[in-house]
Amino acid sequence: MAEVGECSASNSSIQNWAKLNIEINSDEAVIFSETKSSSVDKYEWCKITRNSDVNSITLQNRSFNAILVDETLVQKDDIAFIKCGSEIVSGPVQDGHLSYKFEILSDSKVCKGLKISMDVEHTKCSICLNIWHDVVTAAPCFHNFCNGCFSEWLKRSQEKRTSVLCPQCRAVVQFVGRNHFLLNIAETILQEDSSLRRSVEEIAILDSCSLIQSNLVIGSGKKRTQKRPHSVLGQEESGVLELPCPQCGTEYAGFRCNPNTVHLQCHGCGGMMPSRFDIGIPQHCLGCDRAFCGAYWRAQRLQRSGTYATCNPETLKPISSRTISRIPQLTHENNQHEQDITERCISQMGKTLQDVISEWIVKFNNREIDRTRMPLNHVEMITAETHICNECYDKLVGFLLYWFRISTPKYLLPGDATERENCWYGYACRTQHHNEDHARKRNHVCRPTRSR
Ligand SMILES: [Zn+2]
Ligand SMILES: [Zn+2]
Ligand SMILES: [Zn+2]
Ligand SMILES: [Zn+2]
Ligand SMILES: [Zn+2]
Ligand SMILES: [Zn+2]
Repeated sequence: MAEVGECSASNSSIQNWAKLNIEINSDEAVIFSETKSSSVDKYEWCKITRNSDVNSITLQNRSFNAILVDETLVQKDDIAFIKCGSEIVSGPVQDGHLSYKFEILSDSKVCKGLKISMDVEHTKCSICLNIWHDVVTAAPCFHNFCNGCFSEWLKRSQEKRTSVLCPQCRAVVQFVGRNHFLLNIAETILQEDSSLRRSVEEIAILDSCSLIQSNLVIGSGKKRTQKRPHSVLGQEESGVLELPCPQCGTEYAGFRCNPNTVHLQCHGCGGMMPSRFDIGIPQHCLGCDRAFCGAYWRAQRLQRSGTYATCNPETLKPISSRTISRIPQLTHENNQHEQDITERCISQMGKTLQDVISEWIVKFNNREIDRTRMPLNHVEMITAETHICNECYDKLVGFLLYWFRISTPKYLLPGDATERENCWYGYACRTQHHNEDHARKRNHVCRPTRSR
């Protein structure tokens, strides 16, 4: 399998070049890029198959756009043969796009890896002229910008109610999304040459304007191949997709989409909603940055029907209006002994799980808890009124239960738990997951006092 996003900067005499090394250890590999190292979200970029003659490689374009391979257009999902020195351009035309040089690293005459090289000049945002920060790609022209820069542009276009034109080539933008493959590359270049880095303040300002959190779809969504569950029953691909969302054809709450409306795809149901920045209705979970449509359609007073995929309003709700009756499975690092102790401890106190969580949400909201280990995005911005998704709520509950346990004196725990000593490795202990006896004898709801 390919080692992904393994970026190693060039130390050769050719300045201003960066390369991406991908070790191919099998005959076939799909190249992904990752959102961040901890993330499970991966984005396919291309699939590479080593041919039997060893010196050539078949590349299948798995990205969402056409690319150029040695000046030949390769459509999405099509294949091309590449060899040492092949040039790959990340878009359908040469101009303004990144080009990579593929090199077969010959180690004892065996093709072992691929090297992607690119010119640093092609990794700059044409709005701010810096190396991209949190790069987003506009389609169908496939020009790349900083998320913050493009978001400001998008906002201005939407205020003027005009279609969104690419700031670089003026093509009508029909799609814009974060580009996780290029993210790795931009980071590599910055590691190579730190003089290209911007100040922390500049980055903070840019981040505060960044609105593009997931893949956006503009217009008809004809090319939509992502999941589209239980909607548009019996209708063929080409049919109703002309109207991707309920507001495209019908006015609700005083709003109707126009042909240039940007649409967001809901992570919960796969349905579409118009992206609207101006109305104060959350369309993303702040904890994970994914789009959810529940709160939006509720605010638009849309009656759910079978025609379009829409979520129930529960998918995106303020923390304070959520309820909980069971300890989430991920609590205490999935350690069921600890979950059991927490559960018995709560009932011994004559409380319900809901009572405890409500109390701790108050403390959380009053910033009485250290948020360092909170497993959500934007932890400092989250309050009791923040809309988050079900998954993030479970994570929050797990986090609060950790603090509940940490702050409960041992003598208040159920009898069998009062005498347990803390495991040196605390919550980070790996043994707790495979050694029942160890998990029972040692407390793991504590900070590690040793690291491995
Ligand atoms: Zn920029
Ligand atoms: Zn463009
Ligand atoms: Zn619409
Ligand atoms: Zn979430
Ligand atoms: Zn939805
Ligand atoms: Zn342990």
